[in-house]
Amino acid sequence: MSEDSRGLARARDIYDNREQRAKEFKQGGKKVVGYMCIYPPLEMLTALDLVPYRVFGDMREAITEADRGLPVAFCPFVRSCLDLGMKGEFGFLDGMVATHSCDAIEKTAHVWEHAVSHPYFHFIEIPTKVNARAEEVFKGELEAFKKTLEAFAEHELTSEKLKKAIGIHNEQRALVRELYGLRKADPPVISGSETLVVLKALMSVPADEGNELLKEVLAEVKARENPLKKDAPRLLVWGSIVDDVSLIELIENAGSNVVVDDTCVGSRAFWKDVRVTDDPLDGLAHHYLADIKCARTFFEAEGSDRGEATKDYALDLESRFGYLKEMAEGWHVDGVILQSVKYCDTHGFDVPDVRNYVTSLGLPSTYLEHDYTEGSLAPLKTRVQGFLEMIG
Ligand code: SF4
Repeated sequence: MSEDSRGLARARDIYDNREQRAKEFKQGGKKVVGYMCIYPPLEMLTALDLVPYRVFGDMREAITEADRGLPVAFCPFVRSCLDLGMKGEFGFLDGMVATHSCDAIEKTAHVWEHAVSHPYFHFIEIPTKVNARAEEVFKGELEAFKKTLEAFAEHELTSEKLKKAIGIHNEQRALVRELYGLRKADPPVISGSETLVVLKALMSVPADEGNELLKEVLAEVKARENPLKKDAPRLLVWGSIVDDVSLIELIENAGSNVVVDDTCVGSRAFWKDVRVTDDPLDGLAHHYLADIKCARTFFEAEGSDRGEATKDYALDLESRFGYLKEMAEGWHVDGVILQSVKYCDTHGFDVPDVRNYVTSLGLPSTYLEHDYTEGSLAPLKTRVQGFLEMIG
């Protein structure tokens, strides 16, 4: 990988050669630990000088091995990840941390443990509701994770180290929010596809290196002549995994600007900071359970009586998706693209409610589904063009 590239070029370099960068860390004597979703607290890896490396699939690689471990009618993203794992593509990983983010990842994690072996493997259970008892249970899971991680890293994970790591990751969250803030302008200062390249690069390198990259990108995009379209429809993209720029490029090349997103390689992991608490595991347990707004967690409306007869649907929607209103207003959104990979029940079940909610905000929306192959994106082009014509 080129030593000289900086800013956006550097991010693209890492995006295109993720494994190579991870292998460079290994050659430098570091241990690289994989994870498949935004739920493992990366602060705990950073505090022990382990390199977190997010595992992604490959839309261009045919799935030929994973069918030995997973059903065909199953999330194609995790099938692709497992397929690459079974083909030895993640042989450089020293360990893997999996979470019960959704049932598809949970099942895949247990197959992965046996079909793709690494020196270290740990599975973290996560409650699906947010309340005091759930946070306590989740903190217990993080305590168990801490023990196995310490044994693997052969170092103690002290509160001081963990608080310092939380500071580094909070700095990253603030820098990402600053980058998103630049997309409020018309035209946005950085496109949706460029942002995805940067965020995927962040998920391939240690947090402090990611922070330096973000500072370079911020300085570059603020200073450059803006190449983006003015007065184009401004879109919010919501939904399941988007780990390849081709979908966002398709949407933007159809004549729009993707100005903000609610996806798990996008804003979701960065929208709120982790509170630094006396016992840092308290702050981490709260953040990863309550602050991350993913469809896998149910957010009960405050003050809502859960009795069937009195359940308040509008209150429910506001409680679960109110943050989308802030995004829509703050980023002057004209329309919403709901998108998901096929067989993602986690997001699929939320689509009607998100749609009802954005409709209540006066925003038009459309729903796109694909099977996580490059070929399945092509037919979506006409749908996007039709949607953009509709919203003018
Ligand atoms: S795309 Fe859906 S089913 Fe697949 S890993 Fe993500 S949340 Fe789970």
